[in-house]
Formats: sequence, structure tokens, C-alpha cells
Amino acid sequence: MSDRHPDLLIRGGIVVTGHALERLDVAVTAGRVSALLAPGSAIQADDIVDAEGCYVLPGGIDTHTHVSWPLADGTRTDDGFTGAGRAAALGGTTTLVDFVPPLRPDQRLIDAAEERIAEVESGCAIDVALHPILNRADKSVQQDISKVIGAGLTSFKMYTTYDDRVNDGQIWTLMQEIVAHGGLPGFHAENHDVLTESLHELVEHGRIAVPDFPGSRPALAEATAIKTVSHMARALRSPVYIFHVSGAEAFDAVLESRRAGAVVHAETCTHYLAFDDSVFSRSDGWKFIITPPIRGRHDNERLWEAIADRTMTSVGSDHCAYSLASKSAHPDDHRLTPPGAAGIQARTPVLWDQCVNRRGLTPSDFVAISAESAAKALGLYPAKGTIAIGSDADLVVLDPARQWSGKDLPAASSNTFDLYTDYIGRGMVEHVFVRGIAVVRDANYDSSSTNAGSLLRRSTR
Ligand SMILES: [Zn+2]
Repeated sequence: MSDRHPDLLIRGGIVVTGHALERLDVAVTAGRVSALLAPGSAIQADDIVDAEGCYVLPGGIDTHTHVSWPLADGTRTDDGFTGAGRAAALGGTTTLVDFVPPLRPDQRLIDAAEERIAEVESGCAIDVALHPILNRADKSVQQDISKVIGAGLTSFKMYTTYDDRVNDGQIWTLMQEIVAHGGLPGFHAENHDVLTESLHELVEHGRIAVPDFPGSRPALAEATAIKTVSHMARALRSPVYIFHVSGAEAFDAVLESRRAGAVVHAETCTHYLAFDDSVFSRSDGWKFIITPPIRGRHDNERLWEAIADRTMTSVGSDHCAYSLASKSAHPDDHRLTPPGAAGIQARTPVLWDQCVNRRGLTPSDFVAISAESAAKALGLYPAKGTIAIGSDADLVVLDPARQWSGKDLPAASSNTFDLYTDYIGRGMVEHVFVRGIAVVRDANYDSSSTNAGSLLRRSTR
């Protein structure tokens, strides 16, 4: 027992983990949970927070964000780590997993990683881990894979489509190198040739309007790509991480690959859970152009089943803060609308509302999908994703009775837009701590906490 009293005591709340709910007082010392005490303990602390009537949750982990994202014209999307960190914190997220984007064609991976780390370290209220993106497979990239893993950037993303795509041969080469050094390969998995043919077919018939968009990216393209990369991972006895699984056909490909012996971590995103493809007939349907597309009602239900039976691993926001001007420039042509939308702030509130209020899942189910399983898959557990003695004091106090409107959720920047402005939910994030530092109090961001976050350097298995 330490002779100094805790820095922080969160009193009277119901502490939730992926497997239990218990009324406990949480003591925090030097940024970590130092004791879990029977309620009403007489212990003293420098800072005491009353969580009566509230849940105390492990901070959310957003597994997929594109903060300040480099665009083809040399500009960036409309936010930075400071604004994105603030919006995420106000929404109850305490860890982002963003990417190392390829910045210049001739740039070495290790240099791109260092540049991105400097951006993160210029100021973010919450912790940030990074997935390096691999868009070529030459010798320099192969050499740098072990270096970035050594620097704690242990999970990777490869695209099977878009200009940054790698082909199956390159994927096989890169995967072997990643696995040899204990890293985790991950994929934007959509079969490029199927997408190319599907779009061509639509364009020939003049179908370029927003309601035609889902037809340009059929679920079959996801399913075939998921099976290919999962098969390769299985051959290397490595797990694989699939970003943004959009619906039933893609998730069934995940399950089939698992049955065949592959270890497949599956991520879906908030928008696939909150919306269905009826959004494309709305007058602002262009806002919902994201890849892979939001799919049908049946897909929506299938993803929720996978969350309920805990076969889904994680939920990312796929946050990408395009300015309203760039997103809305061609509202009648899905080919010219940049795919993506901001959503870092809405992920946790929408997930809580959907899980607990609308779908009848438990607060533990919410913790499993919003933080715990992601932490396990991405090498962040048990520092992140749970509330246990010794874990990081990334804590969210949520009032289940308070209503919120999407209009009240803070944006990551002033020129962007999000998809949740019409959303009315229940379950408000009141207080947020990042390694014991109060970044949100009484639903207000503390601007002195802009540097509370750190780059997370992960170790390999
Ligand atoms: Zn993305």
C-alpha cells in the first residue's frame, strides 16, 4: 500500500468491463488504475469525481481514422490531431488508431513514419497508435518494415484497390516480411478488378447518380478480397485485420475464412451500423458516399448479430474530415464525390445508444465492441480496453439518462460535416480521463489538455 493517496477517485459509478458490471470506486495513481474499492470507501484523493447514476467505462478505441489526410492535389482534409483529439475525447474516445500515409512516392517508409509521429506529437488530447500503409513492395519497404515495427508501429494496412493498391504478389511478399517480424497485416479488402468492371458497366448505362453508387462497389468484391488475404495469412499462421467490413456477404467471408483456420479480426464502422442504403435516396445522399458502401437493411442486421455474439472485433469511425465544399462539389456524380466523412466524435455515443437503448445489448457488450476486443487485436491490451488494476486510467463517465442530439456533438474542424446531425440519442459522455488526466469535465473539453495524449509504441506478440 502506497503512503500517498490517489490522484483521482471516481466514486459511486458502475464499473463496466467486457465481462462484468460492478458498483466500485476507481482510484487512480500516476496515470494508472491503482485500486478498485467497495463503494463508499473513506479514502481521500486529490480529485474526487461523483459518478452516482453513471457508468464508468474503459475509454473508447477508434481503430480507423484519417486525421489531416493527404489528398491527391497536395492539400489535406480539414482537421489536425488537436481538433480531432478534442472531438474524439468529447465523444468518449481515448485512443485513436490512425495511419502513416504515403506522402511522397520516393519517401522511405521509416521517414514517412517519423513525419507522421511528429504530427501526432504536435498536440493531441488522446493517445494515438499508427498503422503504416504499404503501397509498394520494393527492397527499401521490405527493409523498413522491421524498423517501423521496432518503433512500435506494429499493425499495417494495404489496399487491394485505389492508386495505392498492391497486387497479390506484392501482398504475399509484404505479408511474409510483416509476419517474420511479429507485425499484424491489415487490409482495405475490395477486389479492384471487380470494382473496375462494375463501375464501367454502370457508366455505360449513364448510372452515375448517388443512388447508383452502391452498384459500383458490390459486396462480392469485398468477399473475394477478404478470402484471398485471409488464405495468405493462414498460410503464414498469422492473424489478419480486415478494415471496414460493410455487410453480410463480407462478414460471411470472414466467418468462412475463420472456419478454414484463419485468425481474422473484423472491423466494421459506425455508419454501417447506424444507416442503411436508403440514405442514398436522400437529397443529401452524397454525404454518405464512403467506401465500401453502406449496404441494405439485412446487412445492417447481420452486423448487429455479429456484435451481439461477439464475432465482430471492432468498430472504427473511418473518420475523414473532407470540407463540406469539397464533398458537395459534384452532388449528382458519385464518381467525383470524394469517399469518406467525419465521424470521430459520434462513434461512441451512437454505439452506446444503438447497443444499449435500441438493440437490447448490455453495457458489457458495448465495452467489448467499443474498446476491449480492439485492444486485444491491436496489441493494446490490457493497458487499454479494460478497467483493471495497473491498466491505463483511460476512463469515461457516461450518464445513461441524458439525451443528446447530433447537432451538439463537436466537429473535428469548423469546415467539415458529419452524418449524425439528425441523430437523437441517450447516454451522454460527462467526464473523460486519459491516463488519469481530465480532458473532459461536465461535458466540456479542458483546452489545457491538448498535450495529454502520447504516441503509443506497441510491442509485438
Ligand atoms: Zn479508411
